[in-house]
Formats: sequence, structure tokens, C-alpha cells
Amino acid sequence: MGQVVVISTGGTIASRWQGSGFAADARGGDVLATAAVPAGISVRVVDLMSVNSARLTTRDQLALLRTVHEVLADPGVDGIVVTHGTDTLEESAFFVDLHHHDPRPVVFTGAQLPLEAADGDGPRNLHDALLTAGTAAMRGMGVLVAFDGQVHAARGTIKVQTLAADAFADPSGSPVADVKDGRVLVRRQPERPAPLPLPQADAPLPRIDVVMHHCDADPLLFNAAVEAGAQGMVLVATGAGNATPEVAAAVEAAVARGVLVALTTRVPSGPVAEIYTQGGAVDLAAGGAVLTGTLRAGQARIAVLSAALASPDADERTRVLRQLVAAPAPAAETASASAHASA
Ligand code: ASP
Repeated sequence: MGQVVVISTGGTIASRWQGSGFAADARGGDVLATAAVPAGISVRVVDLMSVNSARLTTRDQLALLRTVHEVLADPGVDGIVVTHGTDTLEESAFFVDLHHHDPRPVVFTGAQLPLEAADGDGPRNLHDALLTAGTAAMRGMGVLVAFDGQVHAARGTIKVQTLAADAFADPSGSPVADVKDGRVLVRRQPERPAPLPLPQADAPLPRIDVVMHHCDADPLLFNAAVEAGAQGMVLVATGAGNATPEVAAAVEAAVARGVLVALTTRVPSGPVAEIYTQGGAVDLAAGGAVLTGTLRAGQARIAVLSAALASPDADERTRVLRQLVAAPAPAAETASASAHASA
């Protein structure tokens, strides 16, 4: 199977009781010690940080992305596991995925129960992630999320349970594999856009904000973010991507100033679509908002971030964002689980 590098970043899987609540403080070696390492896999640990993932910044995510690339510079490495808090795992995993151009798997995992919990889910999740990262059949699938016996493509996968063990799913899609009886059973190949190069080391970090629409909402918060210097905005609209004529006017004005605006929805699944006018997605798109397919808010924001990091030019940023959010072709279910993992 080979060598897998675990990059440890914290989260519940590395959390202990702090006297008033749980917080990440364990190092990667302590986390790894809880899990059974699959036969044939050797593991090296890289301690990047130990924080709860709600505290992560763009700078942290760039550090993670660069660490992944540095680790993969070693041809002796067969795959990477990233242990990460579940709260923002979908953001970091998608960020790494958008810039991942290597067949070797990068598998994110974490836990809903803390490090020392009796019957915690961390040990199983980490075992499954190690198995997935060390499995030849998982090459070429991009960045993955191994959790609760399933493997998901990073793209489209979000946290869907605050507490339950089956914390992750793509509400508009299906898992790419299952982990069962010590094997990884492939279901389908994920579709991904062409990956972007690594952001320039000295690229300034853009402010990207998220605003949600709701009854009685006006453009005040959207405009305040633009005034605060946001270079990108994610509008989390209602339904298939709808707001009001006033919000549509604010979007158009922001785009005219060079702000990248992405349109997603607060509905859990399905794509945004140009159906309604009078402030609906028809008008938002006409004003320059980019519809983000089935990406939800956190990942839509990451797509805007990557587009903004790709270029200082507004037109080029828009072109890159359109490329990143283009709806992937429907995933073909493999006829059976016959393509199960081979070592
Ligand atoms: N608050 C934790 C975090 O995201 C939750 C978790 O890891 O499950 O760091």
C-alpha cells in the first residue's frame, strides 16, 4: 500500500476537555495513536496546527495547501490524510481540491466526538482515511472526505449533521466510495474542473464576504461589506437563487466596481437557476452575479477566493470563477462495487 502522510490541523478529533468545554490541543501523533493503521501502510505525521476549525483563516488554509504540495513533492509518498475540524472541513477540502493536480489522494477526515471519548468516531474515521489514501483505486479522484464509512468528493460535500456520526454528504450528489470490511469500494468517479495553479506566495489576501437573503432583507449588509473592501461576495439567496430588485441593483453596482459576486442558495440541495425576474436569479445574473451550480455558501466562497487569488483583474477573476463553478457532468454510478480497492 505504501506511505501516507498525516497532516494534523486540530478539530474535535484532536480535542480535549479544557475545563469549560472542548478545544483542539492534541498533536498529530496523539491522534494517530488512537487509530488502527491498515496493514501495509506506513505513516508519517506533519503537525501543522491544532485549532478548532471555526478559527481557521485564509492564511491557515494557504499554509495547508502549500504543505500538501510540499509533501507531494516526495515521490515516495502515496497519499495524504488531513485531520481537520468538521465545522469548516468542506471549505479547506474544496480549497485544496481546486488547486490539486496530482493523482495521489488527499483525504480529509475528523470526528464528531473528542479524542478521548469512549466509542468515539475518530479512530474509525482515521483508519478509513488512511486506507483510502493508501488505496491505488482512489488515485485521480482529487481531494476526498472519509467519514462514517463513506468517501465523498470534496466538491459539493458539506457538513449536514451538527452532532450525528454521519456528518458529511453531498446533498445534490452521492458518495464516491464506501469503506467496508477493510476495503474501499468505489461507486463512481467524481468530476472536477481543471485545477488551478498554486496561488502566488505574495498574493494579497482578498476579503470575501457572505450575505444571506431573507424576508425583509435590504442591501445594507451587502453594501457594507463592499464598502469594507470586499473583493468578492457570496449572496446566499432564497429558492433557486432569488432576492429583491434592490439587492439585484446592489449586486449590479458592486460588479460594476469590480467585485466578484457569486450566487448560491440557502436551500440544502439542487442547483441555482435563472427562472425568476423582479429580483430573481434572472436579474442577479444579468447584473453580473455568477451562479454557482450546486455549491453551497462555504464552498461558493472558496471558489470566489481562489478566483480572486488567481488574478488582480476583474474580468479574469470572473472567467476563473465561471470555470470553477461550471456544473460537473452527472456522475455515472459504476455498475457495481466491483472496482473495490486493491492494495
Ligand atoms: N468545532 C470542531 C471543529 O471544527 C468541530 C469538529 O471538529 O467536529 O474544530
